[in-house]
Amino acid sequence: MLQRTAELEALLIHAPIGFATFDREYRYLRINNVLCDINGLPVEAHLGRTVAEVLPNVPGVAGLLEQVFTTGKSVQIEVTGETAKQPGVTRYWLAGYYPVLGEEQDVAAAGVFVIETTERKRAEDQLRTSEAEFRATFEQAAVGKAQISAKTGRFIRVNAEYCRITGYSAGELAGMKPLDLTFAEDRAVEDTWITLMLRGEISFYESEKRYVRKDGEIVWVRVNVTLLSDADGHPDRTLAVIQDITEPKRTGDAARRLSAIVESSADAIVSKDLNGIITSWNKSAERMFGYTAAEAVGQPITIVIPPDHLDEEPQILERVKRGELIDDLETVRQRKDGSRIEVALTISPVRDGHGKIVGASKIVRDLTGRMRIERNLRVANDDLKQFAYAAAHDLREPLRNVRAYSELLASLCADGPDGKIARFKNVIAEGVLRMDDLLFDLLEYTRLAADEENPGTVDCRSAYNKAIQNLRTAIGESGAQVSCGALPAVQGKEAQYVQLFQNLIANAIKYRGTDPPVIAVSAREHEGQWLFSVRDNGMGIEPEYHEQIFGIFKRLHGNRIPGTGIGLAICRKIVERYGGRIWVESQLDQGSEFFFTVPFYKSK
Ligand code: ADP
Repeated sequence: MLQRTAELEALLIHAPIGFATFDREYRYLRINNVLCDINGLPVEAHLGRTVAEVLPNVPGVAGLLEQVFTTGKSVQIEVTGETAKQPGVTRYWLAGYYPVLGEEQDVAAAGVFVIETTERKRAEDQLRTSEAEFRATFEQAAVGKAQISAKTGRFIRVNAEYCRITGYSAGELAGMKPLDLTFAEDRAVEDTWITLMLRGEISFYESEKRYVRKDGEIVWVRVNVTLLSDADGHPDRTLAVIQDITEPKRTGDAARRLSAIVESSADAIVSKDLNGIITSWNKSAERMFGYTAAEAVGQPITIVIPPDHLDEEPQILERVKRGELIDDLETVRQRKDGSRIEVALTISPVRDGHGKIVGASKIVRDLTGRMRIERNLRVANDDLKQFAYAAAHDLREPLRNVRAYSELLASLCADGPDGKIARFKNVIAEGVLRMDDLLFDLLEYTRLAADEENPGTVDCRSAYNKAIQNLRTAIGESGAQVSCGALPAVQGKEAQYVQLFQNLIANAIKYRGTDPPVIAVSAREHEGQWLFSVRDNGMGIEPEYHEQIFGIFKRLHGNRIPGTGIGLAICRKIVERYGGRIWVESQLDQGSEFFFTVPFYKSK
């Protein structure tokens, strides 16, 4: 049987615990090696001496011993300090002072045990720091972070950036699931990922998807999701890291769209740097010039310039460097096989992100095709004009014969009592007259189309005066009052403006109402053009005919009022030839106002 004291002795010697006992005068009665090491003194330096003598720098000990002797209760404190062996290294201990009872249950001595807690303390500190660090990186991360419960699928915690991207507060997100934020079309894919993850088949995934913000706006996010496990290794939550990629997505999409346009463009699109070296070459450029992109990129642009046009390139580069846009430069280029090709170039400077000019992009249009079409069109047009002119002109000739011979025929036949022959002759004569009028106007119309001489300057007031002069009989007979405001000078041919005013004013007189005609002509500036108006108080035109009346032979009033239905068609032809537009505003019985626009006069 072991002595109990022997057991305790052994424990005191071998346990990593400092230990000592003191008498009532605070003198060391016993001390073990561990505490001697802590104090940095041998056993002999302690025994029989007071605490104050042995540890003059640790005054607190005496106070604690006093507390134990007077109260009979134990007391524990945490102590920080250094050991003589390792000065400069802070250590931590837990010191417990306790009473040792004598035979009469009095406090005969006081004991102390000292356990070093430095390691634990450090581990705790580290944990605290890393926890604080984790919180800080989570909270203040430049990316959105969220922890989501694997069990409920709901957010456990989210950081500020996550809230910023989604537009919801942390409180609002607390009850939600990431799937609630996901744009409807992206949900199915997202669901598949999550299911795979929760089944343990994957532990990480990355996807790009759309979130619907609280304000309803759509944001594109790149999401990285990692499965996290609890202390026992069971997956219990996911960490989602999201980045707002709306902007890059948008510019990326735009860039992709642009490059698709460039690739599919029917025009050759080529870019070069400021040394004239080709940097890009689209499909149409391959077709047009016969060089593949691989052959062309890196070569000087002069490979497509014929020798007699080489002097153009330095000039073009100079203008590009100055930031100029070169529009529709018609010139000649050459294909890989040396054949020449007529082109129109539009060249614009290309700038880098800082606005510095770093090159030029060129759109090259093949004019060979366009010129052929234009030429064919011109020929067809000329043919048509000639045909119309000849038809109008030549048809008048046989018409005259019809008229002359119908009269001759009538004079040879004796008319019966019903006067039919004379009546028929008159019908023929009227028809012939009308046809002649039509052909005459048609001739005017075709003449106008054939007239392509360079325009001069026209004083509209003088054109108006001439029109009034030509209409003086009609004005006099109808008692029309015609007034005119200030009229500008425009570009064109005077005869055509005379005709324009004359047709419009003649109509205003012809299609008058019950009152004598009151006609006002004026012009004013409107949206960078001249806006002319010819207003009357005549019979007016129903809105459904406002467009039709400008077509050839379009008439609303049958033969009740004479006319051929070409006057307004001529007006439209004249106005459109000068780049303007003509229209009418009118209601039946409420007069009409004809408007036409003419571009401002540009002096060369
Ligand atoms: P025409 O006067 O020879 O018939 P226009 O081409 O000049 O041919 O006019 C076409 C039709 O438009 C006319 O027949 C008439 O019905 C209608 N019209 C033209 N001007 C006016 C006007 N000022 N008021 C009412 N109707 C008009």
